[in-house]
Amino acid sequence: MRISVLASGSGGNATVVEAGGTCVLVDCGISYRQLVTRMKPLGLEPDRIGAVLLTHEHDDHVKGLEVFLRRHRVPVLATPGTLEAMQTAPSGAEPLASGRQVRVGAIAALPVQTSHDAREPVGFVLECKGRRLGLVTDTGVFTELLTERLSGCHVLLIECNHDRDLLRVGPYPWPLKQRIASRTGHLSNEQACAAIERLAHSRLETVVGMHLSQTNNRPEMVERELAAVLVGSGVRLTVASQHRALVVDAGGPTSRTDAGSD
Ligand SMILES: [Zn+2]
Ligand SMILES: [Zn+2]
Repeated sequence: MRISVLASGSGGNATVVEAGGTCVLVDCGISYRQLVTRMKPLGLEPDRIGAVLLTHEHDDHVKGLEVFLRRHRVPVLATPGTLEAMQTAPSGAEPLASGRQVRVGAIAALPVQTSHDAREPVGFVLECKGRRLGLVTDTGVFTELLTERLSGCHVLLIECNHDRDLLRVGPYPWPLKQRIASRTGHLSNEQACAAIERLAHSRLETVVGMHLSQTNNRPEMVERELAAVLVGSGVRLTVASQHRALVVDAGGPTSRTDAGSD
């Protein structure tokens, strides 16, 4: 399994997951040009994407979708609420329901409801041949349901949106600060660390901090706080960026022969 986080943050989100010969794109919140530019050095071709999975309808997760679908006729999988809330919902999309696993080629995808100010948002657990990846961003709380469904993952991609103090003293207007910190906003570093502490187990290999605010967070703060939670565990830690792709080799079969670059 190989994960390429092409972009992560409020400026746009897109992650490619390759496993067992199947390649899926989770969210398409960057322009087509950017998508291709970031895929190319990784040896990824947009033609190989077999399906697009959407977490929710916010612009930073869908704004590149329309152009992508004009060039690549692949199925879009999203909850009915997400599809209804999209300005231009893709035709022939396949509805997802939280808790109901669907199969995309070799990858089994389980949508899990998140707590966010969108119509029907989800995160995903993606599984292929015993390798398990959890991807959760855009949630104001890490619920019991998320904890339960994301247990046993080898790789966790978890939102570390903001540092609570930086958000509090930062330049955002008060209503926006409240929205971000609310139960339907975004996870703070502290909340993410608490979630990871609950989810840590002996087979956890990699944790990626996702969807960092460029105003209310610092990558080095996220790394330091995650490292404190996972001290002595041998778990690999890294932080995804808005500006450059991050590749995680999650072991097991990929669709490639040169997997392993990291
Ligand atoms: Zn977002
Ligand atoms: Zn959102």
